[in-house]
Amino acid sequence: MEYTNKIKILIVDDDPTSRIILKKILSKVGYEITQADCGKDALEKIVIEKPNLVILDIDLPDITGYEVCIQIKSNPDTEYLPVLNISSYFTKEEDWIHGLECGADNYLTKPINPQVLVAIVKSMLKIQNTESKLRIALKDAESANDIKTQFLANISHELKTPINVIVSALQMSNIIIKDIAVPDIKNKLYKYSGMMKQNSYRLIRLINNLIDITKIDSGFINMMRRNVDIIKIVEDITLSVASFVESKQIELIFDTDIEEKITACDPDKVETIIFNLLSNATKFTNAGGKITVNIFDMDEYIIISVKDTGIGIEDVDKQKIFERFLQVDDTSHRNNEGSGIGLALVKSFVEMQGGEITVESTYGVGSNFIVKLPIVLIDEIKEKNGDNIMESYVHKMNIEFSDVYT
Ligand code: ADP
Repeated sequence: MEYTNKIKILIVDDDPTSRIILKKILSKVGYEITQADCGKDALEKIVIEKPNLVILDIDLPDITGYEVCIQIKSNPDTEYLPVLNISSYFTKEEDWIHGLECGADNYLTKPINPQVLVAIVKSMLKIQNTESKLRIALKDAESANDIKTQFLANISHELKTPINVIVSALQMSNIIIKDIAVPDIKNKLYKYSGMMKQNSYRLIRLINNLIDITKIDSGFINMMRRNVDIIKIVEDITLSVASFVESKQIELIFDTDIEEKITACDPDKVETIIFNLLSNATKFTNAGGKITVNIFDMDEYIIISVKDTGIGIEDVDKQKIFERFLQVDDTSHRNNEGSGIGLALVKSFVEMQGGEITVESTYGVGSNFIVKLPIVLIDEIKEKNGDNIMESYVHKMNIEFSDVYT
């Protein structure tokens, strides 16, 4: 690749002879040359003339070349402008290092060998060209990602409204069905409206997960932390799904080694965490199996473990399952419906609360999802409100869990 007359190089040197020599060498190759004889002049010319590269003598009459370089690299408009330090003082390695530490991209020692100078300038311009293409590609990718996030947020909200209308209409039609006299028709209508309701709730859950994921991506997720009894939150959620899990002939056990533990957390996020783990445990465990929710108090943190005797996860898939949109592709899964969002969301919510999640699993034997959450207290104590909030969670859980998987 040949860099010709469009490339502008600024030579900064207080020695006119040195400038003439450098200009001669570089003009010959086709570069357009502009000159400055001190640091102040250089900084002004960089703004006005927008060179593609600066050749910067270190020993200037006003400010040092090091200082000029620092100013170039700390200005967002010029931070990517390549700087080649030159000096007859680069006798010591410390000087080269200092120049590079001040942001210079390369250095040369006077007297300059013309061929070496041209080769270095070409190489620096080539690197700059590649970097600028990469920056443009990165910017394009980021803006495409922003558009996708915005689209997902819009579409999720657009989907939510009609689904809510469908659910309300179904509730109304169930009132009417109740009065139908012909039992056969009545039962059929109940059955079909039940199917519609169940699938509407599945869509609502998917949409809610999508909204949460897009909120995380756009940085708009709120942490509504308050000091609450985390044991009660986990216990109530577990109890709220108990009858449904048991109706699937799966045993559900809740066990804790502490009755109460007050910690600052976002109950809404804890709900999503436990709900998704219980939902997966139920989905991937066959009739006759067992799900155990255990809480272990470790003083400075608690461990919540959701363990099942389900199909298990192969070693190769254990880390992948926390990635977004990923599902283990295995036909032995008795129910592979889902979006692959659940565990990614769970991981984000756990980490946003300073915790971590791991999985232990033996393929064909079962899985144990272990959530470790730190115990912290915040100033504002709103435990009373917390209790009220729990009622609405459990109510919501009862509806969603049974309706999603009946
Ligand atoms: P999905 O909506 O597909 O369930 P998740 O992110 O919740 O998405 O789970 C990702 C994948 O992890 C699932 O498709 C499944 O392959 C695997 N998985 C999650 N939980 C369990 C479990 N308790 N037992 C076996 N496999 C599981």
